[in-house]
Amino acid sequence: MRAKCRCDYEIAVTGPTHLALGVSAVWLLAPIPGALSHGPQAGAANPALLTLAAALGALLPDLDAQRSTIRYLRLDLGRGRRLRPFEPVAALVSRTLGHRGPLHSLLGIGVVWLLLGLPTLLWIGWQPSAAFALGMLSHLLGDGCTKSGVPLLFPRPGRRHLLPPSLRLTTGSLAERRLLALLAVPALLMPLSALLMLLSGIL
Ligand SMILES: [Zn+2]
Repeated sequence: MRAKCRCDYEIAVTGPTHLALGVSAVWLLAPIPGALSHGPQAGAANPALLTLAAALGALLPDLDAQRSTIRYLRLDLGRGRRLRPFEPVAALVSRTLGHRGPLHSLLGIGVVWLLLGLPTLLWIGWQPSAAFALGMLSHLLGDGCTKSGVPLLFPRPGRRHLLPPSLRLTTGSLAERRLLALLAVPALLMPLSALLMLLSGIL
């Protein structure tokens, strides 16, 4: 008999869907002059940098989960050495805040933006800072469409849902797989444009 999981990871949007949603959201910046640049002087508007910033933002709220893509993200340092850079902070955050607690609210991601996004804006540029914010907002959007909802307006009590009950997502459902397929194209176009930019500089 299958053990019953008490964590609500089972009814969360999966990491790949969060990533696709977050990276796709970067295209919202495209109409802003100077937001995305493909030339050798792209600087902070480099699509690769924006992809990384949005991906981090899209995964970061799940630091409060007992199991999540960001918690178990593994860096291979070579010679068999591996590092999970987010695991210590995820262990601390999940223990103190709990899954889908304050870190899944507008207030929570606002605080995270002040800690990480504001220094990025001041020292690197507004574009990756905006991509990071869009990534985090997309996470709330994704989880807000699930059956669990999110405490969007914390410290106000209660979870908010962004879809009517019949349309709310469950993990791995056909609806989520369709959403992932839909988002895969715009999400892949962002790093692809960074690759084309790199190749145009080489060739
Ligand atoms: Zn989440």
